[in-house]
Amino acid sequence: MPTYDYECRQCGHRFERFQPMTAEPVKACPKCKGRVARLLSGGSGIIFKGSGFYHTDYKKNSAPTAPDKSRGKPADSGRTGPAE
Ligand SMILES: [Zn+2]
Repeated sequence: MPTYDYECRQCGHRFERFQPMTAEPVKACPKCKGRVARLLSGGSGIIFKGSGFYHTDYKKNSAPTAPDKSRGKPADSGRTGPAE
C-alpha cells in the first residue's frame, strides 16, 4: 500500500496517509478541516508502479559473455628458457 503525502492549503499542516490506491484521497485537513492537496513527490507507491523494469535490467546484466577467442596467440614457440 502506498503512502500518500498531504499538505493543507489552509494551515500548511503536512501529514501522511497509508491507504490503498483505490481509497478516496483525503480532502480535509485533520487539524483545521481545510482543503488539502496530495503531494506526489517522495511517495514510494509511485516509484513501484512500473514493475518490471528492474527485472529487465537484471537480465541484461547476466547476459552470457562470449569467451574472447579472437585474441592473438602469444609467440610461444618451444622452450627458450635456461635449462635446469
Ligand atoms: Zn489545516
